[in-house]
Amino acid sequence: MNKIFNSPIEKKLFEQQTIYIKRDDLLDNNFSGNKARKFYYYLVNDFPNIKKIVSYGSNQSNAMYSLSVLAKIKGWEFEYFVSHVPLYLEENPHGNFKHALENGMDIHVGQGVPTPTMKKHTLFIEEGGRQQEAEYGIELLAKEIVEWQEDKGLEELNVFLPAGTGTTALFLSKAFLQKEFFGMRTTRPTVFTVPCVGDVDYLKKQFLMLEEDENVHPFIITPSKKRHFGKLYRESYNIWLKLQAEMGIEFDLLYDPHGWLTLLENPELFDKPLLYIHQGGLMGNESMLMRYKRKYSENI
Ligand SMILES: *Cc1c(COP(=O)(O)O)cnc(C)c1O
Repeated sequence: MNKIFNSPIEKKLFEQQTIYIKRDDLLDNNFSGNKARKFYYYLVNDFPNIKKIVSYGSNQSNAMYSLSVLAKIKGWEFEYFVSHVPLYLEENPHGNFKHALENGMDIHVGQGVPTPTMKKHTLFIEEGGRQQEAEYGIELLAKEIVEWQEDKGLEELNVFLPAGTGTTALFLSKAFLQKEFFGMRTTRPTVFTVPCVGDVDYLKKQFLMLEEDENVHPFIITPSKKRHFGKLYRESYNIWLKLQAEMGIEFDLLYDPHGWLTLLENPELFDKPLLYIHQGGLMGNESMLMRYKRKYSENI
């Protein structure tokens, strides 16, 4: 495992717009994307008393898979709580679920949400990795971006990324606005995001749980259409295909289609150079693609 992260930034053209893509999907084969940034703190520090990770969330979560990788690297057990596992998934394990089980995940079904435990030897991780420790790895992401911006001599920069818990967008914005970057001469980047889980109010509340100072919160863009998290939409699948065809990059199917559709509705964001953060999650595409194929089988 390469403990020194620095993912490439690529310049691309999409729908006649020039855009830079931060390829956090390429950080590492198994430990990548924003979950790797959020859990980086646990990867690089020593926790001699910890023997087990406890977490909870959905049965195909990207965070679940990344935690299974972390636990394996660290030699820890991994207990994960889900409300249910559909019969189809139980009989045909696939996607994040399958690969997390292969990494030794111990799954607890229908036993409720575990409470943050002070139990000895246990590390409790909130759903989706929404916690303060995520700031550590996301500050490094911010540093990589600012160094690149300086290097390219980009006087101004807009950064866009879709949000779930909003942890990544929040800590990125906070780092850009508050951190001392050695020798920085350019203007600090501005972070824009769009809620993919819940609405704008929900996302604001998520931000406030992690940071009271609203001055460092990212700008939230209101999407023109409400899309329910995890639901399948034809326009989402279409833009996912188009992104791949025009840029040669596979994006995630849960967050990125809603992110890109919203970004393209706001062309003023392209008035400054724009950097899109690819937050990984490609292992989860296996299950999303199966669902898309079952739903739209006649046309795929
Ligand atoms: C988890 C995840 C997100 C959401 O990240 P938050 O920090 O919870 O906002 C976005 N994109 C991908 C691909 C993810 O796996």
